[in-house]
Amino acid sequence: MIGVVDIGGTKIAAGCVSQDGRIATRMECPTAPEQGFAPAMARTKEMLREAARRYGQFIGIGVACTGPVDPFTGIIGEVGTLPGWQGANLAGELGGEFGVPIAVENDADAAALAEANWGAARGKSRFIYVTVGTGIGGGVVLSGELYRGVKGAHPELGHQVIDASGPLCYCRARGCWESLASGPAMAAWMKERRVECGELSAAAICALAERGDELALRAVEREGHYLGLGLANLITLFAPDAIALGGGVMQSSHLFLKRARQVIRQICTQVPAAETELALASLGPDTGLAGAACAWLHRYQPLRFRQWE
Ligand SMILES: [Zn+2]
Repeated sequence: MIGVVDIGGTKIAAGCVSQDGRIATRMECPTAPEQGFAPAMARTKEMLREAARRYGQFIGIGVACTGPVDPFTGIIGEVGTLPGWQGANLAGELGGEFGVPIAVENDADAAALAEANWGAARGKSRFIYVTVGTGIGGGVVLSGELYRGVKGAHPELGHQVIDASGPLCYCRARGCWESLASGPAMAAWMKERRVECGELSAAAICALAERGDELALRAVEREGHYLGLGLANLITLFAPDAIALGGGVMQSSHLFLKRARQVIRQICTQVPAAETELALASLGPDTGLAGAACAWLHRYQPLRFRQWE
């Protein structure tokens, strides 16, 4: 068994996963980032100890963490949803406690590995995973290898500029993909036009669109358009075999995908875009923990990991 941890801004999930990707047990606790890193680690270790009591000693522990996080040192960077955690060392904390090798990975990269190995992109050698939710992120897997940038940097697919006159993003670019097509971007667009409705989540807007609400239908149309533009850029840049879409907003993918495909057909004229399979991510709520296990296998047992090829 591989011990696994998935750290997000709201909750931490932990458990253990078999080496063929079966999730044996999963537990959850609130992240409560404002209470600090140490109490969150204490809760995480307790969940891992409980999993080990039930399933035996782990061969290692994989950690998927919302980024930026350094995959080699396991040190957390400046993460907006984990204020005050910068510089904390995940690999050191868990390695010291359990005495096994630790692999820390950006959560989108971990999910990309899991989808490539056990999910929607099994057997695809050029694969991009995109998650659309509170933000937009993703990972690139080429021939079973996670693509890493200089100094191990994680490529930020969500911060490609789509409309240079668009809204200002915290990354300091205007009109990057995340600022136009994430769930909060959809909600902000709607709120600007219908002040009286106050805060509406992307899910609530989708529900309104299903009931024929005209403004919500425009919001959905706009989402499909911007989703399509970002995907079209990825297809033009990489000409991948497959792109898999995950994340909360994609739970309403049936409302956006037709429009997104139209945009791709219209502007991806320089690569065989029709050959790129556009699929939904298939691991669902287990993606985080499966990703953590896959990140560990990718790091420490690459031969076993690549047997699918
Ligand atoms: Zn940005």
